[in-house]
Amino acid sequence: MDSMKIERGEIFSRAMTGRCPNCGHFGMFKNWFRLNKRCPSCDMELEKEESGFYFGTTSIGYVLAIVIVIIPVCILVVLNMLNMWLGVAIAIVGSILLCTLLYPIMLCWVIMLYYIVQTEELPKNQKENAPSVTDS
Ligand SMILES: [Zn+2]
Repeated sequence: MDSMKIERGEIFSRAMTGRCPNCGHFGMFKNWFRLNKRCPSCDMELEKEESGFYFGTTSIGYVLAIVIVIIPVCILVVLNMLNMWLGVAIAIVGSILLCTLLYPIMLCWVIMLYYIVQTEELPKNQKENAPSVTDS
């Protein structure tokens, strides 16, 4: 079985459900905000050393989340449908809440995008280059 390549669709569905893109093991997350350093099942590196990559991508997520909350609130305030100070409070609380709730989803997206672009980075997709050890 040396041609057990993992398809992009499989990476997508695994990563979006919080499972390891390499082996499908459920346990990508250490907690709500952190990924495990390595997959507990297949030992694939999940948290890259160059954490700037993840930080950069989740920052974009933050900005998006904040914009999604703040723009509708601004519109409601401008239309006099919402008291300004209530609007400010909703914008602040809403942004924090949204970022917190979306954080694991953003991490999933980062992992998903990363491995969909670079499918050969997955240990299971590297087998053909490595000498086979499991021959018996
Ligand atoms: Zn794994």
